[in-house]
Amino acid sequence: MDKDIEKLQQMIDGSRRIVFFGGAGVSTESGIPDFRSVDGLYHQKFDYPPETILSHSFFISHTAEFFDFYRQKMICLTARPNAAHRKLAELEAAGRLSAVVTQNIDGLHQMAGSKNVLELHGSVHRNYCQKCHKCYSAEEILNSTGIPRCSCGGLIKPDVVLYEEQLDSRTIDESLRYISEADMLIIAGTSLTVYPAASLIRYFRGSYLVLINRDPTPMDNRTSLTIHGKVGEVLGQIIVR
Ligand code: NAD
Repeated sequence: MDKDIEKLQQMIDGSRRIVFFGGAGVSTESGIPDFRSVDGLYHQKFDYPPETILSHSFFISHTAEFFDFYRQKMICLTARPNAAHRKLAELEAAGRLSAVVTQNIDGLHQMAGSKNVLELHGSVHRNYCQKCHKCYSAEEILNSTGIPRCSCGGLIKPDVVLYEEQLDSRTIDESLRYISEADMLIIAGTSLTVYPAASLIRYFRGSYLVLINRDPTPMDNRTSLTIHGKVGEVLGQIIVR
């Protein structure tokens, strides 16, 4: 592991336009479960599979059940950034990292101080009235009961990309631009099985492609460096200079 950290340090030292592409595994060290690990949400028992609950059609047909799950499992306001979030914010502040492209919806990168965060799947921190577009915070949704309604009577919908919904095209375009202009791409904490998000990494043309993930992924043998470990523990050892 030490040799790998050394290699990673050298690659970071030699790069000026690093892009980080992350998933749910980036926040497990902050106490937020991912989807596919053994203790992830997909291995817990619910009345419906999580993919069903988090789909657009379920939101429309079973709105109250959707919000029960959303309040219990998707909003986690006690979580705090871990060493990975903090190191990425530090790299950006030092002018070394140009963007964080994340599949996460928890807002922890921004809480750690990252400024340029491209949220492919939206954020639990924004919830909009479908009628008048008034924005509600995660706290307001958490403190509501049943189906949350706006003061105008409209239904509030989380600004989270549900299954069957399309990703925001501006966020995709911007992510593609940053990834294609990067000299180093660090992919971490993602099973790389959720599309189209996972396909964005194909646009990388730079020198160093690094993968940091606890479990194997389809990309393991196609990188400059693959580290099987915890992303917070790994990035926490990097020195920003
Ligand atoms: P995933 O659950 O499919 O995969 C997570 C991956 O991270 C696994 O391969 C696991 O081995 C790895 N991992 C877990 N903890 C790790 C750690 N500490 N260090 C390194 N690797 C670790 O997650 P995904 O690929 O992001 O896809 C799931 C979808 O679920 C995403 O679209 C995301 O929007 C959503 N999601 C978000 C959150 C969040 O916002 N925190 C949480 C759960 C799910």
